[in-house]
Amino acid sequence: MAKIYCSIVIPVYNEEANLAALFDRLTATMDKDGRPWEVIFTNDGSRDRSGELLREFYEQRPRTVRVIDFNGNFGQHMAIMAAFERVRGEVIVTLDADLQNPPEEIPKLLALYDQGFDAVGGKRKNRQDSVGRRYASKLINFMREWTTDIRMSDQGCMLRAYSRRVVDAISRSGERATFIPALAYKFAAKPGEVEVVHAERAAGESKYNYYKLIRLNFDLVTGFTLVPLQLFTLFSMLCAGGSLALVIVLALRRLIIGPEEGGLFTLFGILFFLVSVCMVGIGLIGEYVGRAYQCVQQRPRYVLKELLEDLSDE
Ligand code: UDP
Ligand code: MG
Repeated sequence: MAKIYCSIVIPVYNEEANLAALFDRLTATMDKDGRPWEVIFTNDGSRDRSGELLREFYEQRPRTVRVIDFNGNFGQHMAIMAAFERVRGEVIVTLDADLQNPPEEIPKLLALYDQGFDAVGGKRKNRQDSVGRRYASKLINFMREWTTDIRMSDQGCMLRAYSRRVVDAISRSGERATFIPALAYKFAAKPGEVEVVHAERAAGESKYNYYKLIRLNFDLVTGFTLVPLQLFTLFSMLCAGGSLALVIVLALRRLIIGPEEGGLFTLFGILFFLVSVCMVGIGLIGEYVGRAYQCVQQRPRYVLKELLEDLSDE
């Protein structure tokens, strides 16, 4: 068989209501493109019928469909990572399973890849998410622009295309708390962006609550920059300088004017402030140390239950 041009990677977690429409639209789009392609679905421990549906797709088109079945829920980014380790195409497209990223937009990304861009990001036109999430994203975007050298307009959009070289570099990274679009940006020689349509989730509900989103964005910051630690050190130095000045003033005052009686609450105020600064610092260090600890443990990042694929023609 001819060499595979494009590998589509789709993480799936409890998406039974979306899979049939997704598969129809995806196959229609990619067959029309005409070049050899494959799709790798990772079933991220779904508890609904997603697993059975994916098996049906595989039985329908064993040469095109590959299914990685996880032995539990390891998260969207690990699901993508497992597929990245197995792709055969020269260009790899990631996509959500909930039809928020219309498969019909894939050719747009491929066109940019063909022009020589090796990491193409989708930019969501009129994004269909809740107001709260849109503003949270803006804030995170701003923080990322400020603390890292990663420049992209829409980090949350998962409709993206990468060259095989970039994907192989990502697979080799071996990180566990990771943020794939940002990692890809780091490895890309020529990143590009294109506007894509964004739809509302077709069925089911978002798998991300605010807590998980905050975790993910902490990963983004801690994974790509030490600026928070450095800012904290700078700030602590300022506090230390201020405290020293205060001690000197108090000592001189005692020598010149005599012992003071008032000012107790002011002192408490300063003390509480410094204690809370320490607590923030410990938390911040903990975020980094915790991630380093996870890496040192070297546990497998995901566990496979089954692999459905037919690579016999290679
Ligand atoms: N997903 C996954 N594992 C998870 C959470 C999500 O594989 O633990 C998949 C999910 O099935 C979907 C994609 O990741 O294909 C994006 O999830 P979702 O649409 O819930 O995120 P949102 O669009 O709300 O950011
Ligand atoms: Mg979604």
